[in-house]
Amino acid sequence: MSFSTLSGKDPADKILHDAKNRIEKLGRAPLLAIVVVGEFKPSQIYVNRKIKTAESVGMKTEVHRLPENVEEVELLKLIERLNKDKEVDGFIIQTPLPHHIHAQKIMNAVDPHKDVDGYHPVNLGKVLTGQIDDTMFPPATPFGIMQMIEQYGIQTEGKNAVVIGRSNVVGKPIAMLLLHKNATVSICHSKTKNLAEYTKNADIVVAAAGAPGLVKADMVKEGAYIIDVGTTRVGEKVVGDVDFENVIKKANCSPVPGGVGPLTVAMLINNTVKAAEMKHRK
Ligand code: NAD
Repeated sequence: MSFSTLSGKDPADKILHDAKNRIEKLGRAPLLAIVVVGEFKPSQIYVNRKIKTAESVGMKTEVHRLPENVEEVELLKLIERLNKDKEVDGFIIQTPLPHHIHAQKIMNAVDPHKDVDGYHPVNLGKVLTGQIDDTMFPPATPFGIMQMIEQYGIQTEGKNAVVIGRSNVVGKPIAMLLLHKNATVSICHSKTKNLAEYTKNADIVVAAAGAPGLVKADMVKEGAYIIDVGTTRVGEKVVGDVDFENVIKKANCSPVPGGVGPLTVAMLINNTVKAAEMKHRK
């Protein structure tokens, strides 16, 4: 029996195609601003990918670079400027941030109406309460995963779903989105005892731990859907949380790279078009 590779490319292309059409309808190029603090190499690669994809659908971008040792207050001032800037439709602060900066304080400072990464507590609260509509921004990665689930026709109702990871930006929101789709959800994390006991019983596993090779073939149920969110840089390669090579012999699995990554970028673009549409409606 063979199982499917859950590529993110086709579903991402669909979202981008739709974004392009909506931009044409809007009649102007939405502006996405990206704030980068420091020189963390993977961030530079991700930012370049976001810029390239945004521009490919007809969006404008601007990048604000701050040095690694920038004071938190300076970053907050920049956020305030971007909040007020009428030209900017939406903006993101590329993570990770240097340790001396309080990441939650930074996310809290972004105007929820420009928070196209969907990290502000107002947007995350709407995910929690199921208020996902045209007036808010769901976090890009969890919403991208839900697009993958939809595009591949993966059943969620009454299914056992296990989310590995409990961060505010991936683990918790994806667990809520799966719950809204009537899955029975377990959230596992670094203090979970015997992770395999949960994953073996799961119809859907979302691995978002950032721990390479964490999910092995003997930990998954035959025919299950394994969605790998993890991206860890090992030398020049980016690797996921799942032992793809062996898991794919037993279950359907998304690859890294080429799985959740393209969908995350596509959802960021989708959210930015949505921000421009919201402004247009005002
Ligand atoms: P995070 O570090 O904030 O959270 C990781 C979570 O995993 C924590 O809740 C921790 O308890 C849990 N965890 C860590 N090791 C574990 C283990 N051995 N067993 C069980 N649980 C464990 O990270 P995050 O921001 O949620 O991101 C998670 C991963 O997803 C990272 O690798 C990140 O790079 C990646 N990511 C990828 C995309 C993408 O577009 N593909 C987007 C966002 C995040």
